[in-house]
Amino acid sequence: MVFFGSRASKLKEGRISNIKCTNCDTQTSMDYSIFGKYAHIYWIPTFPTGKKSVFECTNCKRTFKKKELTQQIKHKFELENKPSFPIWYFSGLAVIIGIIFIGIWISKQNDLDNEDYISAPQVGDVYSVKGNQEDYYTLAKVTKVTNDSLHLIFNDYETDKRTGVNKIDKDENYTVGRFNYSRAEILALFKDNIIYDIDRN
Ligand SMILES: [Zn+2]
Repeated sequence: MVFFGSRASKLKEGRISNIKCTNCDTQTSMDYSIFGKYAHIYWIPTFPTGKKSVFECTNCKRTFKKKELTQQIKHKFELENKPSFPIWYFSGLAVIIGIIFIGIWISKQNDLDNEDYISAPQVGDVYSVKGNQEDYYTLAKVTKVTNDSLHLIFNDYETDKRTGVNKIDKDENYTVGRFNYSRAEILALFKDNIIYDIDRN
């Protein structure tokens, strides 16, 4: 379950002087507080959602919302207040963007590794391979490398998830499925994404 919601923090407080209160009809001043609202995920501020200001007459103590102020007071307030959201309001967003970039980088790195491995195969390399049927996946281990061919032994099992093949990667699961391929055939299988991942220990 993801916890998310909205919270607020005080951005600024201050006083507007020389204004006329519409409640007590006095030439006086008003104290104000500006609150910033932000969305959070697991209590990590993620992005700002708005601002809210409250005002209080220093004479009669009546509180006002911004929309209840006269044009004159509103104008004075807005002249001296343009608070921006603090950078920590965006912490969660920064974390999310960071995770996405790390994910992209790892995936890119994995692609580069795969290309290295396929062009210079070694005994013990484990190929993730699409099975004969749609949506079935299995593994094949390189048992011998010659100048122009590869000897593979296939795993006895298949899984129905691309990423589930790790679970069947046990030595005792490679028993009978021995096949030889030319290097060119292997490259073609990789190019066609039949061999879709390579692990090397
Ligand atoms: Zn007042």
